Amino acid sequence: MSKGFLSVSGTRLALTVDLPELERSLSWSQVESLMVELGHRAPAEVLALVLDEAQERLVQQVCGPRRAPRASSGVGAGVSAPFACPGCGARSAFVRKGRRTRPRKLRTATGLLTLRVWHVGCTAAGCGKVFSPLLVMLGLSGRRRTDRLTLDLAELGTQMSFARSAAVDRMLAGTDATAGQAHAAMADLAAVLAGDGEPEPAGPDAIEPDQFEPGDQGQDEDRDDPPDEPGDPPDGAVAGGRDAPVPPAPARAGACGDGRGFFTDPPRVLGPAITRPLVVMLDGTGARAGRKSNGVPVNLAIGLTGRSGPVKRRRAHTHLLGLTVDEDWSMMGTQLQAVAPPALVVVDGETAITVLAQRLWPDTPIQRCWWHLPHGLRKALYADDAADRHVNPRWARTKCDRLAELLREQIRAEHTTAQALAAWDEFTATIPAGLNSAHAYLTAARPHAFTCLDPTVRKALACIGGPELGTGVLERLMREINARTDIGGVRWSPAGLRDTLTVTCARILHHPTWTECVRNLRPPSTITFRLQRFNAA
Ligand SMILES: [Zn+2]
Repeated sequence: MSKGFLSVSGTRLALTVDLPELERSLSWSQVESLMVELGHRAPAEVLALVLDEAQERLVQQVCGPRRAPRASSGVGAGVSAPFACPGCGARSAFVRKGRRTRPRKLRTATGLLTLRVWHVGCTAAGCGKVFSPLLVMLGLSGRRRTDRLTLDLAELGTQMSFARSAAVDRMLAGTDATAGQAHAAMADLAAVLAGDGEPEPAGPDAIEPDQFEPGDQGQDEDRDDPPDEPGDPPDGAVAGGRDAPVPPAPARAGACGDGRGFFTDPPRVLGPAITRPLVVMLDGTGARAGRKSNGVPVNLAIGLTGRSGPVKRRRAHTHLLGLTVDEDWSMMGTQLQAVAPPALVVVDGETAITVLAQRLWPDTPIQRCWWHLPHGLRKALYADDAADRHVNPRWARTKCDRLAELLREQIRAEHTTAQALAAWDEFTATIPAGLNSAHAYLTAARPHAFTCLDPTVRKALACIGGPELGTGVLERLMREINARTDIGGVRWSPAGLRDTLTVTCARILHHPTWTECVRNLRPPSTITFRLQRFNAA
C-alpha cells in the first residue's frame, strides 16, 4: 500500500491506493482501469472535500465560530462578507442557519459534484433571506448543470447523436451524462447564443426525473431541507468578537455571480459575425425535419474575407452571417440588414435567393455557385430521365463532371467572360434537344454563370483567390451539416434542428459569440496543486 499527499489550495487530502502485489495475476489492463477510474472520480471528490473546507472557513469568518457565545461571533462587529445577500444585497450581519441534510448535486464537466452546503441567514430588516454563501459566491445558486458541461455536451452534440455525445462524455470525462441531458444542453446553448433564453430552462431538463428536487424552484432554491444541524438563532442581536481570527477570504473566481459563465457583460448574441464581407454566399439545403416529406429548408449566409495559409492550401476566411431553419429567405433578409453590399454575392440558383440578393444589395453583381451548377444540372437530368432514355446515370454523371471541369478551365486559362460563355454554349449544344429540364436549367443559369470573370469583380476578388475558393468552403460546411442531420432514420423537430444547426454553424465558422463562450468557460487553469509521496519508505 502506498499513500500520497494531495494538496489542493492549501487543503491536504490523503490518497490511498491499494495496489496488489506485483505478480503475474496483476495485468496492466487492471492497472490502467484503476487510472481511468481515478481520473473519473477523483476530480469531483477532491473538489467536494476542498470546497467543504473552504466553506467552513467562509462561514466561520462571516458568522463566527460554531456555537460560540453571541458576544464573540462576527455578527454585528462590522465583519464584511465576501458575498452579498441575494435578497437585499447586504454584505454583513449574517447568522448561521445550519447545514443542509440532503447533499446538493451539481453536474459538472468532470462528473457529479456532491456538496453539503451550509446556510446563513440575512438579518437585515425586512429581508431574512436564507441562502448558501458557497453557492452564491461560486455563482451556482439554483444550478443543476454547469455552463461548462452544457458547452461540452452541446459541442459533442454538433458532431454526433445525443446518445453518442452522452456516451462519449461518460467515457472520457466520467460524467453521468444522458442523451436527454445532451439534448437539453444543446437547446440551452442555442438559446444562449441566440440571446433569447436562460441557460437552464425547466422545460427540456424536466424529462430527467432527478433534475429538480421539490421546492427547488422557489425563492430559496438552495434550501429545500430543514437544516439538520442547528444554527444560531436568527435574531440578529449577536455581537461580534474583534479578536476572533478571520481567515483570508477565498478568491472570487471571475465575475459570474449570477451563474452565467458564458459571457462577461454584456452578453453577445449571434448575428452577422462581420458587417463588411467581400463576398456573400447564400445557400439553401433541406433537412429531414417536421412532418412534411421533403423536410424543412435550411438557409445559410456566409461571408468571405481574405485568405491565408500555405500557397497550395490557401483557405478563405469564412464568417457566419445568418442562418434560418424552416423559414423562407425573407427572414434571412432581416438578419442581413446590417451587412454592407459585398463585391459579389454567390447564389445557389434558387429564385428566392436571387430575388433576396437583388433586394438587399441592388448594385452587387450576382454569381451562380460553381459547386451547385453541376449538381443542379444533375437534378435537371434526373427530371428529364422519364422523358428520354438517352439519360442514364453514368452519362448524366459524365456530363456534370464535364461542366465542373469546364468552370475550372475558365479560371485556369484566364478566359474572358465572352470566351467562357462560348464554352458554355458549346457544352449546352452537346445536350440532346429533347432534354427540356436540362436546357431550361442551363439557360436560366447562363447570365450568372461567369460574373466572376468580369475584370472589375476579378480585381476585387483577387485577395481571396477568385470565385472557386468559396465553393470548397461551402461544400465542407454542407457536408458537416448533412453528416449531423442525416443520421439514419432520424426525423428532427424543426426547433431541435434549429438549435443544433445554430450551435453547429457557430462552432464550425468560429462565430465570435461561440469563441467568447469557449474562452470564458474553458479558461486555462491557474490554480496550483501538486501530488507528492507521503510515506517515503
Ligand atoms: Zn438580505
